[in-house]
Amino acid sequence: MRNSEIFHPDFTPTPYWWEAYRPAAGTLVDVPKETRVAIVGGGYAGLAAALELSKQGIDAVIFERGALGAGASTRNGGSVSGGVNVGKSFSGRATSVDPERAHRLLSDAADAFALIERLIAEEAIECAWQKRGRFVGAWTPAHFATQEKRLARLNDAAQSGAYMVPRERQRDEIASDYYYGGMVVERSASLHPSLYYKGLLDACRRRGIAICAEAAVEAITRNGAGWRLDTSRGTVIAGEVVVATNGYTGKLTPALRRRIVPIASHIIATEPLAPDLAGSLIPKRRSISDTKRVLCYYRMSPDGTRMVFGGRARFNPADALLCGRVLYGYMTERFPQLRGARVTHSWTGNTAFTLDALPHMGEEGGLNYCLGCNGSGIAMMTYLGTQTARKIARVANAPCAFGEGEFPDHPLYTGNPWFLPLVGGWYRMRDRLDRMLA
Ligand SMILES: Cc1cc2nc3c(=O)[nH]c(=O)nc-3n(C[C@H](O)[C@H](O)[C@H](O)COP(=O)(O)OP(=O)(O)OC[C@H]3O[C@@H](n4cnc5c(N)ncnc54)[C@H](O)[C@@H]3O)c2cc1C
Repeated sequence: MRNSEIFHPDFTPTPYWWEAYRPAAGTLVDVPKETRVAIVGGGYAGLAAALELSKQGIDAVIFERGALGAGASTRNGGSVSGGVNVGKSFSGRATSVDPERAHRLLSDAADAFALIERLIAEEAIECAWQKRGRFVGAWTPAHFATQEKRLARLNDAAQSGAYMVPRERQRDEIASDYYYGGMVVERSASLHPSLYYKGLLDACRRRGIAICAEAAVEAITRNGAGWRLDTSRGTVIAGEVVVATNGYTGKLTPALRRRIVPIASHIIATEPLAPDLAGSLIPKRRSISDTKRVLCYYRMSPDGTRMVFGGRARFNPADALLCGRVLYGYMTERFPQLRGARVTHSWTGNTAFTLDALPHMGEEGGLNYCLGCNGSGIAMMTYLGTQTARKIARVANAPCAFGEGEFPDHPLYTGNPWFLPLVGGWYRMRDRLDRMLA
């Protein structure tokens, strides 16, 4: 198909969500001389950490190198999981975590879901929060059987309200025969990512928290018992530091960079569809993802008019038109009835995968960090930011399960994921093989 058949004349290579809130620096806040806690990174994690610190009476300053919301927090798909993705590697496979720890991780992930729901209500954030559940399509019958085995644990540890949907009933969930049935997880939601971000930003501003946009932290050095941070707009002395840079973690923190594999993810949004078509695609308006190693995730826009379709068109940042074409192919494979619907937006952002496929919070060289969304971080990074703040304030009731254990690195990985296109190609081939042999 020609580009003119896929892309709408008003096509823009920016997130659909930015129509409602576009990242902006606003009036620049001066870098203060000192603060109790300096937070590096102004995404969900950084804002949530500052908010919780303020509730605990601790002053904090957020440093964001770009506009406010420049990172993944205004670019994501807006599907909020209640922990179902915990322990899955970027290939989509489950990683080995001992059952007792897995139980606690899932239970904390369930708390993350409760926290975001509470926060949205408490701060009256208007972000199209819709608790409609998620359908995870099984790519092969074997994947369906694996999902079935996980049901009890999900329902026990995370109260997920999960159940299986056989292939014969799949059309109750999705107007497609692409999958071999799948799993419904009732305790999942969707929201408007950049309006949720804006709501957190407004909540921080209401509390008078200093948020310094366009203030890249360029060096962090010891200063007595605390820290000195040199930013592109001045120097600040801080008692503690929180690193909340997730998929944008760079050379500033080399030890953390070696533990994070930044992987690009891409999304398209279609033009508004005919009402009958829009209403038929995902009749219960759930979020959808699948069990493929190179998975796709999609949903209807909050107003129900557009398909918002994401996946790994490439494993690294790539041209919006190229990624748009690839995702259009993936979308019409699942929904042939969408051929002819034109794409109005195509965009990309970085997720942060870890070598054990788990999110982590903790301390490295004296710096606090909360990192590693593994592709699913709206609730999780909000939660880990909050938990990091509670740890600093010494008010955590119990240690967070994501703060336990080692944050692994690998002797051959220095933070440059040059190998991702090769790995991506390998996983795509394995997905095809799985299906051929099914
Ligand atoms: C395309 C895409 C789709 C996704 N879909 C979903 C989904 O459907 N559901 C879900 O749960 N999750 C999803 N995610 C993941 C989710 O968006 C992230 O987990 C979450 O936004 C991470 O928040 P954060 O605050 O940790 O990081 P970010 O929002 O990425 O913020 C980190 C910030 O740190 C800043 N920074 C970096 N270095 C410095 C420095 N030296 N000085 C100052 N600032 C610095 C960056 O500019 C950036 O703004 C998706 C992500 C992407 C990219």
